[in-house]
Amino acid sequence: MELKNKTVVITGASSGIGESTAERFVKEGANVVLAARRQERLEEIKKRLDAYEGKIAIKTTDVTSRQEVEDLIQYAIGEFNQVDVLFNNAGLMPLSYMKNTKVDEWERMVDVNVKGVLYGIGAVLPHMIERNEGHILTTSSVAGHEVFPTGAVYSGTKFAARVIMEGLAKEVKNTDVRTTSISPGVVDTELMTTITDEEVLNKQKGGMPFTPLKGTDIAEAVYYAVSQPKNVDINEVIVRPNNQ
Ligand code: NDP
Repeated sequence: MELKNKTVVITGASSGIGESTAERFVKEGANVVLAARRQERLEEIKKRLDAYEGKIAIKTTDVTSRQEVEDLIQYAIGEFNQVDVLFNNAGLMPLSYMKNTKVDEWERMVDVNVKGVLYGIGAVLPHMIERNEGHILTTSSVAGHEVFPTGAVYSGTKFAARVIMEGLAKEVKNTDVRTTSISPGVVDTELMTTITDEEVLNKQKGGMPFTPLKGTDIAEAVYYAVSQPKNVDINEVIVRPNNQ
């Protein structure tokens, strides 16, 4: 699919995978709406990406607010007439042992990683169904396929995100709306900074047994899924370091 002049909305665009994906699309001439909470970061990224052909717009958005996510989609339609691609990518990963009962963090993960995704789908799906065109992608994780100690709740949210996308895929299969779950392995981003459990942090001091991927590796997978011809629906992509 030709990306020039298409509109791509990306949540979690102020760093990591979202930022890299924005760059990948704007290089192809797509118009990209960057969404996250940190406005200054979004402004810096816009400044950098303004050098490319596609246009960049920013909209400060907290995906835990249904209203703000609806406003984001309406803003994108107002700026660029339509939304062709929504990348539900905002997320956090405060890994912890369940015995340490970080209930606030569990709740936060459900709010951002699950409810945030649902608000995105809810806000954009009627628009895409009406146009009989569009692509919704969600960042799940390798942790959305397998669970590991300290990752019970995070995995729960990422399994949920993936299963929601699978259900959606089955419901829209007779339309030209496409859906993709992107499941990264370890990627070098700011995601680890959301961890507060001292036991987890101490364990991590020993280093990671993997060589992390870069955000650009995941951006390439997102671009691959979106740039296929209209009749090709890439529903699942797992991308991990080859030693993970
Ligand atoms: P980063 O921490 O770099 O990016 C997370 C992004 O989510 C930031 O832009 C942050 O922006 C945004 N975000 C967090 N909370 C909210 C919120 N309430 N509303 C709006 N935006 C929010 O990490 P990654 O790039 O790695 O993470 C992107 C996605 O990839 C996440 O869903 C993560 O779970 C997933 N993932 C990452 C892996 C990794 O190893 N890095 C592996 C597998 C999956 P701001 O703070 O400005 O709001």
